[in-house]
Amino acid sequence: MTVQDDVARRHRAPVALRPLNRGFTAVLVGASLLPALVPLTLLDEAGGPVPGLANIAGLVGGVLIWWQAVLGIRQVSALFTPDRGGAVALHAWLGSAGAFFVLLHPLMEMIADRHGLAYLVRIDFTWVESTYTSLGRIAFLMFCALWLVSTLARAAVRYRTWHYVHYLSYPLGALVFVHAYGQGTFILDLWWLRAYWLALGATFAAACGWRLAAPLLAPRYELTGAAREGASATVYAIRPRGRALRPGPGQFCHLRTRLLSRAHPLSVVRTDPDSGELLFAVRDAGPFTAEFRRLAPGATLYVDGPHGTFTHEALRGARPVVLVAGGIGVTPFVELVRSRPEGGAVLFHAVRSPATALFGAELRELLGPDYVPVPGGVPFDARAALDRLGRGTARRALFFVCGGPGFTADAVAALRAEGVEDRRLHVERFEW
Ligand SMILES: Cc1cc2nc3c(=O)[nH]c(=O)nc-3n(C[C@H](O)[C@H](O)[C@H](O)COP(=O)(O)OP(=O)(O)OC[C@H]3O[C@@H](n4cnc5c(N)ncnc54)[C@H](O)[C@@H]3O)c2cc1C
Repeated sequence: MTVQDDVARRHRAPVALRPLNRGFTAVLVGASLLPALVPLTLLDEAGGPVPGLANIAGLVGGVLIWWQAVLGIRQVSALFTPDRGGAVALHAWLGSAGAFFVLLHPLMEMIADRHGLAYLVRIDFTWVESTYTSLGRIAFLMFCALWLVSTLARAAVRYRTWHYVHYLSYPLGALVFVHAYGQGTFILDLWWLRAYWLALGATFAAACGWRLAAPLLAPRYELTGAAREGASATVYAIRPRGRALRPGPGQFCHLRTRLLSRAHPLSVVRTDPDSGELLFAVRDAGPFTAEFRRLAPGATLYVDGPHGTFTHEALRGARPVVLVAGGIGVTPFVELVRSRPEGGAVLFHAVRSPATALFGAELRELLGPDYVPVPGGVPFDARAALDRLGRGTARRALFFVCGGPGFTADAVAALRAEGVEDRRLHVERFEW
């Protein structure tokens, strides 16, 4: 069977990889905020502009937290869009906007009630109203921890710390909804706002429940093969035990080795349409990749996905495609290159040793001189790359950059400096 026949067979079903429609999502977010803004006409009922606006800031913060959670939980966002990168970006942006309102709310309450800063942290469960206020204060403190770890302190903490602190979002959201339901002036006064708030709280709880149940429902796969590639990577083959996922080129799945362990994203290097077998290439990193290496053939893996729309534009084939991979960052491009037998793609692969580059031999065979190994471990030389392409092609081409956070940041900065506009730059960082 020729490469073309094989690709045609494996891609007979078109893959829907449409990126998140940001404009439409922004309209939905705006519409969901309208009920929280209606009380702007009723400020006097809350005792004047400052307490009234404080209430509204709390409501707006609550709605944004709802969106943030819904977009942040991949099992939920995947129900609407495969664009995980877009959902995470919006989730982070809404986190900052929500932070503003969530922080504004207690500050305005403090000013309205003429209290000092101690008001923000006083915990008192002795009577009903102070209990509801204290729930809000606990949520506020959790929010501060989450916000700090995601912004100012992000560079100082390890990925895992950042990740575990994120779990605070779930109790935090629950506390915010209960706090406002028990104490929010407008929620207590307006039956329709109370109903809206209940609906938000119920859907928030359902999203969290779905997040917890998702591993139980994730398709089970069996490890069927593992082959060491070079000094620091392993290629794994896994087969479905029941329901099979059908990732398209450039998509990734989340894998966990045990039901209660953390899931990790890995790009799919190949999907077999008949057996449903998936192939992954995994670089040695930390505890998860070490545990993966220790698994014996026949071990069960829990897989969810497919996620991602990174190479969506490249699949449409309308323009020249330039792929820039840092080491293991080549994985989302392998199936893409196989699916473009007509060519039209140039791949710059930053590697320490061209002779042992992961998938180097296959990619060289498929792309010929358009597979270009470049030195790894040093900044990507965008000027040399664009000169090699020819400036005419470089002006029309779409660029896809993938790899670790350092490599992608450097390569994107270098391409921008050479005049590649953001609209032609698509990036997948191997870290959220
Ligand atoms: C969309 C995407 C696709 C990826 N595809 C591949 C691939 O094809 N091959 C490959 O070798 N690696 C891939 N990665 C990276 C891979 O997920 C991490 O190397 C792996 O999770 C490391 O886990 P660990 O416990 O072994 O190491 P750790 O020491 O825990 O992590 C090492 C680094 O990996 C990243 N990381 C860890 N856990 C996660 C997580 N749950 N989500 C996102 N990033 C995490 C962090 O940057 C962390 O600093 C991909 C990452 C993303 C985001």
